[in-house]
Amino acid sequence: MNIRIWISGAATTLLLSVGLSFLASAQTPSITILSRDGRKPLPVTAINNQDYVAVDDINTAFGTASREDRQAGGLVITARGQTIVLTADQNVVSAAGRLVSLPSPVVRRDNRWFVPADFLSRALSPVIGMRLDLRRSARLLIVGEMRVPRVVARVDAGSTNVAVTFEITPNTEVRVVPQAGRLIVQFEADALDLTIPLVPPQTFLTGLAPGDTPSQVAITLGPRTAMHRVTTTQADAGSGRITVDLLPATTEAAPAPAPSPAPDTRLVIPTQGPSSGLRTVVIDPGHGGEELGTQGARGTLEKEITLAVSRRLRTLIESRLGLKVFLTREDDRTMSLDDRSAFANNHHADVFLSIHANSAVRPALKGAEVYYLTVERADAEARKRADESTAILPALGGGNRTIDLILWETAQVRYLEQSAALAGFVEQSLRTRIEMSPRAVQQAPFRVLVGANMPAALVEIGYLSNADQESQLASGAYQDQVAQALLDALVKFRQLLEP
Ligand SMILES: [Zn+2]
Repeated sequence: MNIRIWISGAATTLLLSVGLSFLASAQTPSITILSRDGRKPLPVTAINNQDYVAVDDINTAFGTASREDRQAGGLVITARGQTIVLTADQNVVSAAGRLVSLPSPVVRRDNRWFVPADFLSRALSPVIGMRLDLRRSARLLIVGEMRVPRVVARVDAGSTNVAVTFEITPNTEVRVVPQAGRLIVQFEADALDLTIPLVPPQTFLTGLAPGDTPSQVAITLGPRTAMHRVTTTQADAGSGRITVDLLPATTEAAPAPAPSPAPDTRLVIPTQGPSSGLRTVVIDPGHGGEELGTQGARGTLEKEITLAVSRRLRTLIESRLGLKVFLTREDDRTMSLDDRSAFANNHHADVFLSIHANSAVRPALKGAEVYYLTVERADAEARKRADESTAILPALGGGNRTIDLILWETAQVRYLEQSAALAGFVEQSLRTRIEMSPRAVQQAPFRVLVGANMPAALVEIGYLSNADQESQLASGAYQDQVAQALLDALVKFRQLLEP
């Protein structure tokens, strides 16, 4: 985690200026084609409440040609010497000799042919030899290798601050630049697949809207904001989070504002010696609830895959090893990263495994990756010493007792060697069953591992941003292979702990 503070002058003159333009553009029915050449609209027609695109508009946009084949009762689209054959009222088309199914049938109406919007990514893309990624909620059609992360903004208003949080997948570099009454949030991207809540004007924040370029979001500051603080948290390899706290002048309110929802709580937890056995396993299905995690092109959600794999793994561990297994979440719910490791601490877990699916801007990337926590060495040693403290608490039945305390930020530091061994076993076992990424074991500053007071690793079981891996990850067979590999790794890890 990384905290930077800037002071910006209070903005007193900007009120109610943003928001309207965003509303207007969100209502346009067309899809925006986004490519290296720029943006252009593709008209959309609603047929039976589904988005349809006219074939003549596709021809204009992509340089394809079409002719009706009256004998066959169909339409033939040609591109680069290949053909797509459509038949009216059918939801299967032939694209370069392969049958492709569509969610709804081809429609011929008033001498024009219409295809469901999914035709673009499913049938047209392979024929024109270009990646077409349809992002429904943002109404974007991304052509080729553009960097377009999904960005979901959230606003949490407290009495003494407002926090604006952006969840970003794939994880992307972000800079926050103060500029005349605004904060410009600049993403390292070609454009954004952006979801922004409607924000009623308030004293800290009068607007949250797309910025002046396609890769920016503008936060318009209210008169009460005197400074801001930026906190970046990496949830896992595939997604990141940045929180911009809007704060009043320090003279305004007596108590310092609580950073919300920044997880910088210096929680204390009881110490526990290095693991001497394996009795309890806590599995953490990544994301959940409002936090979808990453998302595949066909709509597969990371939060669902991680829960499915975690359940399979629990069943295996319970039946084969007879250990106690707890999941940090049993269903589809939002849970903070620190609450997940706190759950493992409270359950006295001997090992903590966080399950995720990866995502990258480059769709070719695939394979599983295993992570354990990275810590700056000097930093870690200094903090470890500083942490060796005790507290005196009133004991049950009178008197006091002394307990050892360690600080949240250093809990995992004491287990790094064991965590490295655990990550190594996980990598070896996964490799025998599923494809690994070229960088199969890595260290990273993932927040969910920081406070874990036991050996811990985070597993990215594949890339949802890769089309082949999206189908694999959604299949029970692949999920079983992952669960079986993780079970094998736990068996090896137990042998390490209990020689
Ligand atoms: Zn994740």
